[in-house]
Amino acid sequence: MGETKYIFVTGGVASSLGKGIISSSIGKLLQARGYSVTIQKFDPYINIDPGTLNPYEHGECYVTVDGHEADLDLGHYERFLGIQTTKANNITTGRIYKSVIDKERRGDYLGRTIQVIPHITDEIKRNVKLLGNKYKFDFVITEIGGTVGDIESLPYLESIRQLKWEMGRNALCVHLTYVPYLAAAGELKTKPTQHSVKALQSVGIQPDILVLRTEHELSANLKKKVAQFCNVDDSAVIQSIDMPTIYEVPLRMQEQELDVTILQKMGLSVGETPSLGPWRDFLNRRHKATEKVKIGLVGKYDLQDAYKSILEALSQAATYNDRKADIHFINSEKLTDDNVEKQIKDMDGIIICPGFGQRGIEGKFVAIKYARTHNMPTFGICLGMQCIAIEFARNVLGYTDANSREMDEKTPHNVIDIMEEQKAITNMGGTMRLGAYECILDQSSKTFEAYKSEHIQERHRHRYEFNNDYKQEYEKAGMKCVGINPESDLVEIIEIPTLKWFIGVQFHPEYSSTVLKPHPLFLSFIKAAINK
Ligand code: GLN
Repeated sequence: MGETKYIFVTGGVASSLGKGIISSSIGKLLQARGYSVTIQKFDPYINIDPGTLNPYEHGECYVTVDGHEADLDLGHYERFLGIQTTKANNITTGRIYKSVIDKERRGDYLGRTIQVIPHITDEIKRNVKLLGNKYKFDFVITEIGGTVGDIESLPYLESIRQLKWEMGRNALCVHLTYVPYLAAAGELKTKPTQHSVKALQSVGIQPDILVLRTEHELSANLKKKVAQFCNVDDSAVIQSIDMPTIYEVPLRMQEQELDVTILQKMGLSVGETPSLGPWRDFLNRRHKATEKVKIGLVGKYDLQDAYKSILEALSQAATYNDRKADIHFINSEKLTDDNVEKQIKDMDGIIICPGFGQRGIEGKFVAIKYARTHNMPTFGICLGMQCIAIEFARNVLGYTDANSREMDEKTPHNVIDIMEEQKAITNMGGTMRLGAYECILDQSSKTFEAYKSEHIQERHRHRYEFNNDYKQEYEKAGMKCVGINPESDLVEIIEIPTLKWFIGVQFHPEYSSTVLKPHPLFLSFIKAAINK
């Protein structure tokens, strides 16, 4: 197609309007037209990456195959586009500054004063173009985190201004805003949108396309008014109304020809409208599935975003099993032997969630014990797998003080232990076992049945590991180690084959479940839950 085209997605009025979903939808529509597309997120905060951030602050931490701890929007990009992102797809202000400061210390700037403009902005621009230059994508979509008007967004906006100027038609800005409905007045209000476009214009950026988030249908008149006040074409004002599922959004954007407008503005030929067949099939199946499968999510974070990828993987797998995922959060901090039955008995299956630290851990053991002794489909992920191992050691192997070194440094029965190479680590950021590792499956296992492949690769994010000293004891007592890392001999998967579906995985399968390629383990888990 020639030169890479750059699309910038900015947001105004409020945060949480769904820039990630709009970016992913644009990506999807362009990809469906045969273009190669990647999406990257630039976050204005100072952390080097979100790996050290608490889920209450920032939701789930997503992990790329190359072991980068990333913003959860990268999960949307992968789920929508079926692509794999990398470290280069998520940049933070912290990383930009670090790289500039490292260069300064090396003497690369030859004695000059280092300033936000041009040094920080040049570094941002270099990073914007990195993937496009390296892989020659047709389109690179860059989502800018935060909201226009934030102090920390300014260097990014200045970089976009310069890039738009330099690239001409090869760059374009899509601005996402919000149109609130004032119930008392019975009116939709465009003033916040006008103000946020003014804020963009005041830093020299004229948005090319406006996407208006709204809870109510926007009239043609209202859109015309916005177009007029904001210097954009009528056809470039798109509404994004609340949808029952985020996966509807690409279709709604296609109906309004958002992709056509983008192509025309960038001087590309439009061609036929792609049918998005498999995507529509997925949605049809999703709408038709009314019967529920009830899944209990046993964890400590009572907030949607903390387990984002798990929720998406479950709901995708439910769709492909023609069920609607009915997910119930079960707070492990409040689970006791006395109340566990009441909370879990009606579930078709439970997930034991990943996590860090002691809080809520004992409740996980309570849930696992109940599920194990009642033959309930159970799926332990990362810390969840470690908890399955610990519960088994305590209640089956008879080591009542069994634990993970993470929770009890002095435990005599450290069935989950810290690796030698992790012991010396003092820096918390980016030092866990991260990214995709190979794993070999036991061909007689349920896990193999699900994957239908002996060699798999899955993404990790943890410091502690199953302690191989106990492996034989586990196997003798009926818990099998069915997935092994061929290089390190580490146990990656455990299961109890005599139970219907009782599997723990040390990795995070949820990160690689996509709309058109749901994850085999989630598919198999939901199937078992349905058959319960
Ligand atoms: N806290 C555990 C570890 O570090 C598990 C981490 C996780 O669940 N992601 O090993």
